[in-house]
Amino acid sequence: ISKRCGTFTDSVIRRMTRICQKYNAVNLSQGFPDFDPPRELLERLSQVAYEDYHQYSITWGAANFRQALAEKQSKLMGRKISPEGEIVVTSGSTEAMMAAVLTVTNPGDKVVVFSPFYENYAADAILSGAEPVYVNLIPPSFSFDKDELEEAFRLHPKAIILCNPSNPCGKVFTEDELRYIGDLAVKYDVFVITDEVYEHIVYSPNHHVYMASLPGMWDRTISCGSLSKTYSITGWRLGYVIAPSFIIDNVRKVHDFLTVGAAAPLQEAAVTALNFGNEYYEDLQDKYTHKRDLFLQGLDRIGLKHTVPQGAYYVLVDISEFDYDDDLKFCEDLASVVGVGAVPGSSFFKDGKVKQYIRLHFAKKDETLIEALDRLSSIR
Ligand code: GLN
Repeated sequence: ISKRCGTFTDSVIRRMTRICQKYNAVNLSQGFPDFDPPRELLERLSQVAYEDYHQYSITWGAANFRQALAEKQSKLMGRKISPEGEIVVTSGSTEAMMAAVLTVTNPGDKVVVFSPFYENYAADAILSGAEPVYVNLIPPSFSFDKDELEEAFRLHPKAIILCNPSNPCGKVFTEDELRYIGDLAVKYDVFVITDEVYEHIVYSPNHHVYMASLPGMWDRTISCGSLSKTYSITGWRLGYVIAPSFIIDNVRKVHDFLTVGAAAPLQEAAVTALNFGNEYYEDLQDKYTHKRDLFLQGLDRIGLKHTVPQGAYYVLVDISEFDYDDDLKFCEDLASVVGVGAVPGSSFFKDGKVKQYIRLHFAKKDETLIEALDRLSSIR
């Protein structure tokens, strides 16, 4: 067994899903919806089964999927994205991120990661032979210290990973913050690898700004995205990388040998979703705003202290008032005794050192959230 395998564990997020299944707990740990994807998308999926999409698509993505995605993202990102040269379709943004890090780093290179962070990034760096350098996002606003960030850039990292809107803290980076990060990336010649899977789940008055759309940033930004959260299809594993062609040419090679390609029939069906009009995204925003408010009000009623997300669908609940040293043990007890699944916050923080939070998500039917809140109220 390689030494590399000794340097990281399996995903705690996904482990918690297995624990929830064992105890029949309401699973607010791994972030995925329990409601249906849009009906039109499902109808198209059922037709596709009888059409000719059962063999490999082009490695870097079916032409009509890339065309539809390029049209959608060009409008959002304010630049004409070439479906031919600037997109690779991947097996989820998990593969997109892995391929991006493998494409730009050499073994021994440093990669800046904000902490708290989505747990895949450390594994992406380690699997590439790169070394994560962490910069704190400081609660309660989860803003960063400018000097601490520049300090990290002075180590001459190859890339910075930017999750915006951020999992798990719900931060939406402001344009000023993005410009500050972008200016440092230019000054120190660093790539920015974004994870923007929550681009459409942002709560008013916050709004999402694409790093790649800022002046001077297109040439050094590798934008990773996904259809999972936007269309409630986490199991379809459809993600993508968007970047300038000199990067994409290389992401294609990495992707080719990682997975050959994303599932062809699912790409074909998903074109329907990529062609949805603005109304779909407005409704999605309204739906998640309602769920966030329902869930946060419930936590307030129970008297649990929590973050207020500006985007994405996660809440960090502060458990310091409870008599636990170990947040994993807290989550195990929460699943087995209270019947609610959460992710121990330590899995998102540098070196697992911060143990005062658990992460809950609210991408669930209202009735599921109400049931979870009802169960949570018994912890008092
Ligand atoms: N992004 C989701 C989370 O943080 C799901 C992660 C996953 O398991 N791929 O829970």
